[in-house]
Amino acid sequence: MDTRAFKRLLNHSEHYHRKGFGYDQAVAGQMQTEYQSSLIQQIRENGYRLTRGTVTIHLAEAFGFCWGVERAVAMAYETRQHFPQEKLWITNEIIHNPSVNQRLREMEVAFIPVVEGKKDFSAVQSGDVVILPAFGASVQEMQLLSDRGCTIVDTTCPWVSKVWNTVEKHKKGNYTSIIHGKYNHEETVATSSFAGTYLIVLNLEQAEYVADYILRGGDKSEFMAKFHKAHSEGFDPDRDLVQIGIANQTTMLKGETEQIGKLFERTMMRKYGPDRLNQHFLSFNTICDATQERQDAMFDLVQMPLDLMVVVGGYNSSNTTHLQEIAIERGFASYHIDSPDCIGVGNRVEHKPLGQDLTVTEPWLPAGHITVGITSGASTPDKIVEEVIEKIFEIKALVLAN
Ligand code: SF4
Repeated sequence: MDTRAFKRLLNHSEHYHRKGFGYDQAVAGQMQTEYQSSLIQQIRENGYRLTRGTVTIHLAEAFGFCWGVERAVAMAYETRQHFPQEKLWITNEIIHNPSVNQRLREMEVAFIPVVEGKKDFSAVQSGDVVILPAFGASVQEMQLLSDRGCTIVDTTCPWVSKVWNTVEKHKKGNYTSIIHGKYNHEETVATSSFAGTYLIVLNLEQAEYVADYILRGGDKSEFMAKFHKAHSEGFDPDRDLVQIGIANQTTMLKGETEQIGKLFERTMMRKYGPDRLNQHFLSFNTICDATQERQDAMFDLVQMPLDLMVVVGGYNSSNTTHLQEIAIERGFASYHIDSPDCIGVGNRVEHKPLGQDLTVTEPWLPAGHITVGITSGASTPDKIVEEVIEKIFEIKALVLAN
């Protein structure tokens, strides 16, 4: 079935929910207790800065839970209350945060198992309730769940839905969607399932390669090998790059997405002339505010004289990784950790250097007075950041004092 027709059908189904179930007050209290932090509140009120002993903390002025994530988690909590007896599933991590996902497991929300890299829906029965995460799910998954007679609770962030609408517009006008994203990221998988013809570019370098191909042509088999797995079925670069529209994974680096958009606009203008630009290029406006604010705050933070940075968030969280990239590009010693448990006994930290596997650094906190910059990804609750800060204070007070 056509994706638009399927979405229309779903929107009218009594088994499809895109809003909470009226338990918002109770859930807000629960989330406040489980995820909010009085220490973080205190630091915010103190100009995002706090000194205790030999440590000064500088917090980014925008960090942590974005409203899309908060909304998705609240909806998952409400779903548990509304369906106390039903078997509850979630098609993926609701957000990329281990502690939040663990909390959902405790509430008996089961995750769809992944077998040999593929989701296995065989245990899902008619009448089960299935939650779709904040970054969405593919049309094929929604169709499978709907056909199986499940109730679907769709927590997809409206910003992500906006991108889906954009690629649907491209499809309607026979434009190829050029998606700035990671071809195997769940959000981009979902977005491409709504697109017609599409090509996914990971970064500016790949975008420049495509732009060059548009202007000068090139080796088609090299092109196809380079974008293996990152295009729609039957994609042909000689035929499908004549009319293009841009879309993005909402958590990519904002500056890079904008550069890619401008690059393709210039490319199509050079190839077809300014008066025919609109027939060959569709611009976009789907960069999420929250991602933008967090990245801007990080750019401000790295202007400060910091001794080191700590970036807190899931290792598979795209927006967290981009925050880490900003710190590394500015030459900071920056530690990406996914929970306070990464900070061990003694002066030890387990962290993930950019593009590498987990590693342990010991010692990691220098002696003497230190200034530490801290930020966290859109999926990280304040409580987690508080625990990280407390551990840093503890090491400096107990271990390094002796
Ligand atoms: S980062 Fe933006 S798009 Fe992603 S869930 Fe948050 S508000 Fe929505």
